[in-house]
Amino acid sequence: MSASYREALRAALLYLLLSVVWMQLSGYLLNSFFDSSAELLRWQLINGYAWMTVSAGLIFIARARLLRCLGIGARLRERSEDRERLRQAAAVFDCTREGVLVTNGEGLIVHVNRAFMEITGYQSEEVLGQRPSLFKSGRHLKGFYQAMFETLDSRGEWSGEIWNRRKSGEIYPQWQTIRVIHDDLGRHSHYVAVFSDISAIKNSEHKLMHLAHHDALTDLPNRLLFTDRAEQALASAQVHKRGCALLLIDLDHFKMINDGLGHTIGDQLLKAVAERLKAMFGAGITLARLGGDEFAVLAESCPHLVQAAALARRIIDGLKEPFPIDGHQLFINTSIGISLFPSDALSAEQLLRNADSALFKAKSGGRNGYALYTEELTAHAQQRVEISFELRNALDQQQLRVYYQPVHDLKTSRLIGVEALVRWEHPQRGLVSPAEFIPIAERTGLIAEIDAWVMQQACRQMCQWQQAGKVLSFVAVNVSSRLFARRELYQQVAQVLRETGLAPACLELEVTESAVMEDPEVALEQMHRLRELGVRLAIDDFGTGYSSLLRLKRLPVQKLKIDQGFVAGLPWDEDDAAIVRVIIALAQSMGMQVHAEGIEQVEQAAFLLEQGSHLGQGYWFGRPVPAGQLDWLRAPVITQSLA
Ligand code: C2E
Ligand code: MG
Ligand code: MG
Repeated sequence: MSASYREALRAALLYLLLSVVWMQLSGYLLNSFFDSSAELLRWQLINGYAWMTVSAGLIFIARARLLRCLGIGARLRERSEDRERLRQAAAVFDCTREGVLVTNGEGLIVHVNRAFMEITGYQSEEVLGQRPSLFKSGRHLKGFYQAMFETLDSRGEWSGEIWNRRKSGEIYPQWQTIRVIHDDLGRHSHYVAVFSDISAIKNSEHKLMHLAHHDALTDLPNRLLFTDRAEQALASAQVHKRGCALLLIDLDHFKMINDGLGHTIGDQLLKAVAERLKAMFGAGITLARLGGDEFAVLAESCPHLVQAAALARRIIDGLKEPFPIDGHQLFINTSIGISLFPSDALSAEQLLRNADSALFKAKSGGRNGYALYTEELTAHAQQRVEISFELRNALDQQQLRVYYQPVHDLKTSRLIGVEALVRWEHPQRGLVSPAEFIPIAERTGLIAEIDAWVMQQACRQMCQWQQAGKVLSFVAVNVSSRLFARRELYQQVAQVLRETGLAPACLELEVTESAVMEDPEVALEQMHRLRELGVRLAIDDFGTGYSSLLRLKRLPVQKLKIDQGFVAGLPWDEDDAAIVRVIIALAQSMGMQVHAEGIEQVEQAAFLLEQGSHLGQGYWFGRPVPAGQLDWLRAPVITQSLA
């Protein structure tokens, strides 16, 4: 028995004894009151009072001691229960699989448990006294932590997913609950954070998501993900006013491979096709396997059908190379259906449906080809795409030719110069007009090579004629508007002149009026540089480009070529006649030569001569021909008088 219990027992016994004494004494006093004399009574009363006072005092002391002892006893019991509770809490704190971290009100770590150490890799002594910012992953922005502390302040608790860093440096996701502990005055005395490592859950979640959105065989996005991505891409294209193309790819006769060689080989072929397709595309293109032998491609920046058709051609050609699988060399052909956003459809689903009907068209059109959803465009686009592909080889395979069209002095009718005009001698289609392939070459960027080549050929030819004693004032070459503004043009011209040795004054560069007016300041600078080289400059197709007269005056140009559209109606069309008159007057006032093109009749030549045009070019004088066929002696006399 402990000392305090013994003391409590003693106090209880004393209290009992005194109570008995008190009861005895009060009984005796009452009896005496009735039996004794007054004197005795007073003595007894005084004594009784003293007794009563003493005994009451004793009782008070005894009671106080008893109560104190009982209080101590109760407190001791409470303390031992608290100790028990603490022991249990410590066991839970230590055994729980969740990491626990406690900070004081200043945010310094004061406790961590064993799970904390296992999860984070830190020992307790490494983190005690530190701040939890030690574990920051850097994945969350400042606002994330701000919002967390605001919630802790307002609600006293925060739960959520948070990325932290282990001691090893690895970043991992936690599910964390933080609770604020208040002291008796309501101040934040501690923060308790309980967390679990959810990387495993996250991983399996990720794997599940991947499985749900990807094709198991090829690991490409499946229809679900493809449609989703397509919707997002279309929404963004709408905002940025971009065109997109959706291509549905189907392998021709794939069933035969499956039936003939078995599904295992069929699967391997599909995998190999997926790999080859993947290698073909870069960013901005989503590739998916929609099922079976059907793949889909979404090109996010594909504004023209020609680009979409070119992409289809690239895919068809890319899949033509044999696939070596299990000792077999497998050849496959491909059919592709194309649908365009926004011209054919506005939603991913509708684009897919349209591409599907285009695919059907491609397959029924003999397979191994592509078809556009918009039928009228298919043939036209196909032709342009084929041309752009073939044009690439045309230069290497020396299919391009330079023809020369004579230019005559209208007064003397003498041959005075030539214009170099490019031709394409296509192995199947024969002579292709530049009007057909130059715009395609401009779009594909091939124009730079073509123009450089033509210029070189023309200068060489001019030198050969000069060496043969055939004298011409100039050879004119056309410069594409795409190249005119570029710095390289100057270097290119200088290089050709250097290489061929042609006198610069014999070379005339024709630039269209619209190219000049596109950016007149750049044109002006470029023209001055070219003039410094000593070459002649002419404005081609004049009258179609809305020139500003003020600007025109500043240009260092020697010649205006009246567009053949105005010449065609001469001399009877009054409007054409009036325009031609004005152009001639304008050129003369600015000290420029006038060169009329497209002269097919003598009346036109006569009108132009009469109005003061200096030079004439057209079928009436001679068609563009190869260098060897130029008629040096031809000088048709303009006899007809219009008076
Ligand atoms: P252009 O520079 O205005 O050339 C004149 C065009 O008119 C030539 O067409 C020529 O064959 C045609 N032509 C000449 N006389 C007559 C005629 O009496 N009647 C009719 N109806 N047409 C006539 P072509 O050779 O088909 O060239 C068309 C255009 O292609 C040229 O127009 C020029 O802009 C461009 N081009 C031709 N060769 C080149 C080149 O090497 N480089 C560049 N960038 N463009 C070229
Ligand atoms: Mg020309
Ligand atoms: Mg012209």
